[in-house]
Amino acid sequence: MSSHNLSEIQLGDLTVLGYSVAGEETVIALPQLDVCFDVGKAPDQIIPISHVLLTHGHMDHSAGFAYYLSQRKFCGMAPGTILAPANLIRTMEEILDSWGRLDGNRIPANLVGVRPGDEYAIKPNLFARAFPTRHTAGSVGFTVLEKRKKLKAEYAGLTGPQIVELKKQGIAIDNPVEIPIVTYLGDTQYVDFSQLDYVVHSRILIAECTFYEDEHVGRASAGRHMHVDELAGLLGRLDNEHVIISHLTARTPMSEARKMLKKALPPATHEKVIILMDRKYRRP
Ligand SMILES: [Zn+2]
Ligand SMILES: [Zn+2]
Repeated sequence: MSSHNLSEIQLGDLTVLGYSVAGEETVIALPQLDVCFDVGKAPDQIIPISHVLLTHGHMDHSAGFAYYLSQRKFCGMAPGTILAPANLIRTMEEILDSWGRLDGNRIPANLVGVRPGDEYAIKPNLFARAFPTRHTAGSVGFTVLEKRKKLKAEYAGLTGPQIVELKKQGIAIDNPVEIPIVTYLGDTQYVDFSQLDYVVHSRILIAECTFYEDEHVGRASAGRHMHVDELAGLLGRLDNEHVIISHLTARTPMSEARKMLKKALPPATHEKVIILMDRKYRRP
């Protein structure tokens, strides 16, 4: 029996599993990539995932981090890795120390502090890259991207043995390419993320949109969150295949959020959008 009833969205070969209600809990996992964005209250389904990418310390995003780590130990798994803003690591270690004293068992952990621009290898060729957001001191978003090598155009017609020969001569025959797979903005005030090429071209964008009512534009920036009108402006400058909306408040009914998104977005953009918690809306 699972601890949570998570939303599940299938996007081609990737599954997105998650729960996100502002102030209550946010946890969004992509099991095939072995990453979980924020940890919420550590639902059972994310325990086998080896990497948690924590965007900031607010309780609704971080509450379960110690439990996640201890459940991995309990289940005989390797210590979990948590990437988190570098300024939070010491506090997180103190929390683990306190839990260790309370529980009587030390919780094994691999805590990795990240600053904007840092990269961490999740698997060979798969990396998490942190970028700055505007929410709390040190808050970050993450893009998970694949790095491959692509044969330079001028060598495209060569045979295998010819390529081997060039390699032997030490000639660089390929260029590095990056394929951004998923970007998670975490909680953030509006920022022009279109300045980051890997965000623009991420196959999947997971964006918060906390405020929907017209009169709440000011409240969105005061609370360092995004309003639907700001999201609409941003999406107009991005080129994602799928956009998943997270972090709705309990105050905005789902039907209202659907209506406001439809009103704010041009049809071609609206077509790509899925509200994480809108279980009625599934895409093959
Ligand atoms: Zn939040
Ligand atoms: Zn927050």
